[in-house]
Amino acid sequence: MKLLTFSTGSGPRVGVLDAERRVVRDLSGRLPAGAGLLDLIDRWADLGPAAAQPADGDTEHVLDAVTLLAPIPVPRRNIFCVGKNYREHVAEFGRSGYDTPSRSEALPEKPIIFSKATTSVTGPGTEIDPHHGVARELDYEAELAVIIGTGGRGIPVERAYDHVWGYTIVNDVTARDLQRDHKQWLLGKSLDTHCPMGPWAVTADEVGDVRALEVSSRVNGEPRQKASVADLIFDIPTLIATISAGITLLPGDVIATGTPAGVGIGFDPPRFLTSGDVLEIAITGLGTLTNRVG
Ligand code: MG
Repeated sequence: MKLLTFSTGSGPRVGVLDAERRVVRDLSGRLPAGAGLLDLIDRWADLGPAAAQPADGDTEHVLDAVTLLAPIPVPRRNIFCVGKNYREHVAEFGRSGYDTPSRSEALPEKPIIFSKATTSVTGPGTEIDPHHGVARELDYEAELAVIIGTGGRGIPVERAYDHVWGYTIVNDVTARDLQRDHKQWLLGKSLDTHCPMGPWAVTADEVGDVRALEVSSRVNGEPRQKASVADLIFDIPTLIATISAGITLLPGDVIATGTPAGVGIGFDPPRFLTSGDVLEIAITGLGTLTNRVG
């Protein structure tokens, strides 16, 4: 099932996408007033099966006539992210000189976990704020994002997929100069609008074998990144086990799993984003997330 958060001009609503008919089935009549996708994920065992079945009274909207928002427009807390999780990207990042202080092309021995502020989240089709005067070196990162369903602490690798509700696409937009100059990555990763997410969320049962998905990106139509999720250095169960070892994962938590090679700093000289650039991130079965730099 493809779940999306959308607006028809009167605040966010949750709907189910019928991709074939390009129609959104509005679920807001079945949810408490103001409830969003986070609430639906919280109560998925009760509400999920019903959401899959069209019911009398469900309003339908033409997909092209609604405004899509990020599937989780305001996450409960920061987006968990993973650095250097594809081999070729580790090499390009190490060569670039932006990975201070280590500047290492060696593969990480353990997952590198950082986060993006909730206020960095923006929806498909929105403009990415270049933050002139704050940052100069903007880059893109195409990533598969995992959405947690049932939370928990100490989740073992072998049960990790039981805790995955679904998947979406994240563009881990990065201000490379801030990432380099401030050593710790939070500032460089968290500027407002620097976490485009969407266009919708797809439940794990519909995705099937997530390792078979392909992540790719284009800038102004030019292919830049392409990799299989199977190429992750630390796979999804390892990431969930690592984070949850001492941090309780909550329903609706988002984990961006890392980006493949082909980002702007992978080029020599680097190819940073400029106003008007159009970024398209595509993942098999999850759709395409498109944003323009403002
Ligand atoms: Mg990233």
